Amino acid sequence: MDTNARIYGDLERILVTREEIQEKVREMAQRLTKDYEGREPVMICILKGAFVFFSDLVREMDLPLTTEFMAISSYGSSTKSSGVVRILKDLDRDISGRDVLVVEDIVDSGLTLSYLKGVLETRKARSVAIVTLLDKPARRRVPLEVQYSCFNIPDAFVVGYGLDYDEKYRNLPDIGVLHPKIYTKEG
Ligand code: 5GP
Repeated sequence: MDTNARIYGDLERILVTREEIQEKVREMAQRLTKDYEGREPVMICILKGAFVFFSDLVREMDLPLTTEFMAISSYGSSTKSSGVVRILKDLDRDISGRDVLVVEDIVDSGLTLSYLKGVLETRKARSVAIVTLLDKPARRRVPLEVQYSCFNIPDAFVVGYGLDYDEKYRNLPDIGVLHPKIYTKEG
């Protein structure tokens, strides 16, 4: 562990290494390239958490895709979402008639994405599919079809590779379980 030595000390353990991520992201990009052959999908990056995954993924895809960015905020505590979603930054272009791929960092309860999917469908997208880096299936509270998932993970709060706690740790190249001492010492 040559870089980020200081912030690595806040982790309980590494869950997914940068090598495992790189391999899986490549595989996912190839799968999407095949599945969307002949089409020009709109890739929507859900800010901020998906920004690292998104930039690695789109660079491995061999398609005439376009990129869009959406920022949403979920009301609730810093470690649990409430399902009430506010759009902080909306898409720049119309998506009607387009094949949309929503790129998310993690699906937990599923509330955020099920809300967002509904919003995109009312805008008359031709298709809406979900691509997520991480999935915690055990925590699902609403039914949600996740077409493309890189890793299923256990119920633990993770950071790194774009995912934050209190806006920190997004720059870790690996994904790790945050040590509970970090969020229990606050207040
Ligand atoms: P959901 O609406 O599916 O419960 O929550 C999805 C959002 O909750 C994610 O986009 C992410 O912002 C946040 N989230 C859920 N689990 C984790 C986690 O383990 N680590 C981090 N950093 N964020 C999480």
